[in-house]
Amino acid sequence: MDSMERSILHSDMNAFYASVEMLHHPEFDGRPLAVGGDPAARHGIVLTANYPAKRCGVKTGMALWQARQACPDLIFVPPRMDLYLRFSHLAHEIYMEYTDLVEPFGIDESWLDVTACASAAGDAPSIAEDISRRMKRELGLTVSIGVSWNKIFAKFGSDYRKPDAITVITRDNYRDIVWRAPASDLLMVGRATAKKLWTLGFHSIGDLALADPHILQAHLGKMGLILWTFANGEDETPVMPDGYSSPVKSIGNSTTSPRDLTDEDDVRAVIFLLSESVAARLKEHHFAGSLIGICVRDDGLAWFSRQHRIPIPTNISDEIAHRAMELFRASYTWDRPVRSIGVRVGMLQADSYCYQTDLFVDERLREKQFRMDVAMESIRRRFGHDALFRGRVYADRLLAGLEVHGDAEDRRGSSEDSRSFFADTAGTAGSVFTGSGGSGGPGTVWPGSGGVGTATDPAVAGAVHPHGYFEHGVRVFGGK
Ligand SMILES: [Mg+2]
Repeated sequence: MDSMERSILHSDMNAFYASVEMLHHPEFDGRPLAVGGDPAARHGIVLTANYPAKRCGVKTGMALWQARQACPDLIFVPPRMDLYLRFSHLAHEIYMEYTDLVEPFGIDESWLDVTACASAAGDAPSIAEDISRRMKRELGLTVSIGVSWNKIFAKFGSDYRKPDAITVITRDNYRDIVWRAPASDLLMVGRATAKKLWTLGFHSIGDLALADPHILQAHLGKMGLILWTFANGEDETPVMPDGYSSPVKSIGNSTTSPRDLTDEDDVRAVIFLLSESVAARLKEHHFAGSLIGICVRDDGLAWFSRQHRIPIPTNISDEIAHRAMELFRASYTWDRPVRSIGVRVGMLQADSYCYQTDLFVDERLREKQFRMDVAMESIRRRFGHDALFRGRVYADRLLAGLEVHGDAEDRRGSSEDSRSFFADTAGTAGSVFTGSGGSGGPGTVWPGSGGVGTATDPAVAGAVHPHGYFEHGVRVFGGK
């Protein structure tokens, strides 16, 4: 082994959605459970099944009625994306204690490059054991971890044995372990590619590895060469320290006012209300964002949207509200009264990335505002939204009583399959911030948003975990 040999882990949380639900439903212990759509509505599919359900034949992607047929005692629970995202983030925080080279692959998997800390903290397999122990103890979840010198074999290792297993793929054993597996077990070999490889006579990963790369290229193009590289353990793709690239692209809230808004004070009250709710949801997901957007519709139903990039990502309601107000003031001419407003924060990243300071930013003020938000949110979680209002909002009881709608964007995610999860969100979320113009039909403020879910979503408020996410939020400014 040369001195540049890398140590890469791929950690996969087992039966992720179902495992998180089992934590919250101790009464279902030992019973088969699947996370999926509404079984009464007779549609939807199984997103994840726990191991008792898997043992009786329930598979991811199955129609709910099929799953019920395979396993009559199956318990269905609806998905709670907010909750899963929170666990995903907590796992990410654990990974980040070993290395900052953490690359998420969907909501429940991550690569970690632990080369730098492997010598100091023991070898890579013992780091994997440590992570596995901590995930169990601190999150109550099991992981399967693959350890190898490249990302492809690490990923293979995490799939090789599960649940709750560690598989080490070394230069000594990869021919015995990886090469014997079917070609379809290799990352990026989908069903169609596997079929093609099979008809060409390449059945195992070893067949692929030992093939003439030019033949693979002739049949599969560039992908043929890539797969040949993968099969030989020669992939050198780095683990990308891209921050926590979230499966959620933006978080927004909108509302239609019970009466038309006729002046700036009205608008300010509504924007503050919306910003508070957006800020609360950002913190709930452990996100901060650096793109602030507004969408405004007048009583003639004409609408426009504006957005502004800010230098430091935020999840502070005051900052969001002030930016949103600036955008509004700069673009609205008051030819007509305002009917509805939306506030959205995009370009999300983990809130732990708020650290970076700026010479011109008053960090103490930010911290104060942040703590005030957290205190307000905590009170509202316990006593309800109406327990507390800011002075400027409270001045108008009618506006203060507005119903704020969260968008559907951030709760999309119909499959635990990471690739489709990303594909799913990327398209729609990107379209939201495409500036002014477009046509928002009556009733839709944000194009592409379903207007479901509110700031006081019981799925968010009801999910209690010993880690207390506020604790995490506060630590953002407390310094680790
Ligand atoms: Mg998984």
